[in-house]
Amino acid sequence: MKRRQAVLVVGAGFAGAIVAERLAAAGHDVVVFEERTHLAGNAFDERDAHGVLVHRYGPHIFHTGSAAVVDYLSRFTAWRPYVHRVLARLPDGRLAPLPINRTTLGMVTGQALEDDQAAAVLLERLREPHPGRRTSEEVVLDSVGRQLYELFFRGYTRKQWGRDPADLDPSVTSRIPTRTSTDDRYFSDAHQAMPADGFTPLFERLLHHPRIRVELGRRFNPATDRNGWSHLVYTGPIDLFFGHRLGRLPYRSLRFEHQHLPDTAWFQPVGVVNEPAPDVPFTRTTEFKHLTGQIHSGTSIVREYPQDDGEPYYPVPAFEAKALHARYAALAEAETGVSFVGRLAQYRYLNMDQAAAAALALARTLT
Ligand code: FAD
Ligand code: UDP
Repeated sequence: MKRRQAVLVVGAGFAGAIVAERLAAAGHDVVVFEERTHLAGNAFDERDAHGVLVHRYGPHIFHTGSAAVVDYLSRFTAWRPYVHRVLARLPDGRLAPLPINRTTLGMVTGQALEDDQAAAVLLERLREPHPGRRTSEEVVLDSVGRQLYELFFRGYTRKQWGRDPADLDPSVTSRIPTRTSTDDRYFSDAHQAMPADGFTPLFERLLHHPRIRVELGRRFNPATDRNGWSHLVYTGPIDLFFGHRLGRLPYRSLRFEHQHLPDTAWFQPVGVVNEPAPDVPFTRTTEFKHLTGQIHSGTSIVREYPQDDGEPYYPVPAFEAKALHARYAALAEAETGVSFVGRLAQYRYLNMDQAAAAALALARTLT
């Protein structure tokens, strides 16, 4: 890459901010266009009107098995250890641990399961073998059988994605393990933590560099902003970059309903309560103080209502969407001087650590 011209990075989320930092550290001038008026992409957090630290775009919990990603990010933040726990509401109102574990199995079946072995025997009886695991439905049926599938997965997944689990790639429900132990951590990763003062300050530090200029509220237009850079790193929706010329890729969006409850120490027992029932229109409620450890006389929560229209939060891991994406990926491959990285540009359900790892890997090839 020519050093006389700057690199343009589109997007100041995990993918864009990390590539920008790495390139600046290697001596490149970097300009970042971010169409929102803030840094951090979907990981953005802020104090609400009542002073409670909340995540504008829904709960973000950092978890990873990658020591390299932790080491890198630790240059820009200290951490607050946090183990995420999720409960799912059963039809009778009781709250059961998710992922399904021995406690969940006992609550649903009414059986006293004394050890892992007893839970494994029960699961063997409940499960409906689908060795091919070709869809998200088959993954769950193969692991826990139809009763638990209906209770915990079918309704939630239909709400979240607007599609039946049978029409979704197996990777969607494969994100949730099944356990025979009483381990009730949502994530199994060795490293689970929150940035000590939030995600936004982490991004401010990442991008605070004399060689980086950030333009907030600046939308990249592929028709007019494409040239004049030594390289372009694009983290927005891949189909948008190509003017939707092969058709629109589906994205799933969410409406976030934030609420503050004054003089309420706690609203719910854990950070997130899931609502698998089909007749409840939202998927989950997050209470931020559990995640952040903040002490406050009131509490702030957010409920997520899935929808098709709006900000593109999730690439849809459906079969026809993957096929269309493969055609866009071929166009991206043929481009010179442009790299596509991140959840929207790679059209992959990447967690923050995976977006970070992809950005670090890309930066190594560019420096
Ligand atoms: P983004 O964060 O989406 O950043 C892309 C940026 O590019 C955006 O700021 C966007 O405004 C900007 N942009 C796009 N197009 C243009 C353009 N044309 N011009 C200028 N700017 C543009 N991950 C976890 O690890 N743990 C979690 O608990 C977790 N929870 C999540 C909960 C929700 C509700 C959602 C939606 C996601 C969650 N994630 C979680 C995933 C996490 O948000 C992503 O991994 C991460 O945001 C990916 O970073 P990114 O940089 O690829 O994308
Ligand atoms: N899921 C479900 N019931 C739940 C939780 C998750 O059916 O109570 C399914 C749903 O399809 C979801 C997927 O498992 O999209 C992955 O869940 P995860 O919590 O990883 O989703 P995210 O945090 O990305 O929203």
